Amino acid sequence: MTDFKLTYATMFDPPAELHTGFDKAIAKQKANLGREYGMLIDGRIILSDEKMEDYSPIDVGMKLAIMQKGDETHAQAAIEAARDAFPTWSRTPWQERIKLLRKAADLIDKRIFDLGAAMTLEVGKNRMEALGDVAETAELIRYSCDQVEENKGFVVEMGKDPLVGYKARNISRLRPYGVWLVISPFNFPFALTGGPAGAALAAGNTVIVKPSSDTPWIVRLLVDCFVDAGFPKGVVNFVTGPGRTLGQALVDSPDIDGVTFTGSLNVGMNIYRDFGGGKYVRPTILELGGKNPAIVSRNADLERAALGIVRSAFGLQGQKCSACSRVIVEEPVYEELLSRVKELTEKLVIGDPSSKETYLGPVINKSAYHDFKIFTEEISEAGAKFITGGNVRTEGDLSKGFYCEPTLVTDLPLTHRIWKEELFLPITTIAKVKSLDEAMEIANDVDYGLTAGFYGNDEEVEWFFDKIEAGVVYANRPQGASTGAWPGFQPFGGWKGSGSSGKNAGGHYYVQLYMHEQIQTLIK
Ligand code: NAD
Repeated sequence: MTDFKLTYATMFDPPAELHTGFDKAIAKQKANLGREYGMLIDGRIILSDEKMEDYSPIDVGMKLAIMQKGDETHAQAAIEAARDAFPTWSRTPWQERIKLLRKAADLIDKRIFDLGAAMTLEVGKNRMEALGDVAETAELIRYSCDQVEENKGFVVEMGKDPLVGYKARNISRLRPYGVWLVISPFNFPFALTGGPAGAALAAGNTVIVKPSSDTPWIVRLLVDCFVDAGFPKGVVNFVTGPGRTLGQALVDSPDIDGVTFTGSLNVGMNIYRDFGGGKYVRPTILELGGKNPAIVSRNADLERAALGIVRSAFGLQGQKCSACSRVIVEEPVYEELLSRVKELTEKLVIGDPSSKETYLGPVINKSAYHDFKIFTEEISEAGAKFITGGNVRTEGDLSKGFYCEPTLVTDLPLTHRIWKEELFLPITTIAKVKSLDEAMEIANDVDYGLTAGFYGNDEEVEWFFDKIEAGVVYANRPQGASTGAWPGFQPFGGWKGSGSSGKNAGGHYYVQLYMHEQIQTLIK
């Protein structure tokens, strides 16, 4: 590739070879669909009696892969394998651990087109979003490696006690916990499996990854990168099966030492309670949902605001935890912003996400498609207005998949539940307010606190950064009002119901979450 650096903020204008590479890869993947993939436990491919057939949301007749429907016995086998591998892996010098991780990251980069193509077919992401998810994963893994390296394995010489007649040596050492469970969601299946797994491994833990049942194939291809990089057996284990059975068995096990769960608030809170039901407290990193606002002041650059809002509202069909699902606008610029947002939204191309022109692919599955119909009905019944969208699309090939229009809603009473609940669909509600203080009150009046965007003048921006309750906040950003964080630039994490650790992934304080401190005192 050229010196173009792909991030979610640069992806709008990629070089031509990126398209050529992707087109070739899509053809290659489509020619090889329907293979069976096993789980990976203790370095062995494991097949289960029951299978899960994996179909594309683009075309429900397109069988992508046959995956294993693992159960409690597989959960147990994976735990045993990870536990057996831990003593050696945790004592492997960190330099060797990160060498392997960097090799896996390089393999991910090398395979970016094949992986991106598989992601498009399985998740329904448009090509740039899919390539972004893959590239981000390699960066997240490298970021954890860099942190371990810069901190020299997190071994720090402490002060010496002022003892008379003795010499004291005190060392602070961060050490891995043991077996780390990574449960990932469907929408960023690569980055949100590979990122946490990479941090856990860099820290010296062994891992078990369990992907969403909507996206087991792409995560299996990620695990191949770890296998091909040469990770010892049992260090990375991969199990597939329903969250409620296999996932729950992992969460309920006393032999899991820490968990990173990325997914919805409800499932996350249940995991928090269940995991907390053990004999003692174990680290629980939760990365949960969002109901992300964009506030537009009367002093805003409306062109920037409109672009940023539309990109963040409808990228990945509104199925980003960081999606801009609420827009709050000061009265004097309301009509003008509304008309520009509507105009830009109506230009978005809906269709097969593997094609170059498409911005919106399908939503992930039948249940999300059904939810879209229910929510739009509810919005109509509440007397709100659809500025644009509001329908599913079924013409031509769109009838084969789960396509929903990008939908903008006004005049929905602020007391309506849709202002507070995460829909995870291409539906964004817009409200008019008299002042920025009123806007801020609405913005913060939700259980979530993941991302937020603001458009206004410099003084207002400082006020916004100070008052907004969210973990990732952007000002005057046309590349995305609330979306598009990139490791190393915008470490990602949430406040309130959006996250548990208070430290963002891909940032300074993340890899440390995967280790506990030991102070080693020796008196001579
Ligand atoms: P989900 O909560 O339905 O599922 C997430 C994962 O949990 C899946 O792998 C699922 O199989 C598993 N699971 C379900 N029940 C389980 C159980 N009882 N025990 C163990 N595992 C179980 O989420 P989803 O629909 O896949 O993803 C969308 C959600 O994820 C949204 O709420 C979104 O905001 C959130 N998300 C958050 C972030 C973040 O960084 N904060 C990033 C991406 C997605």
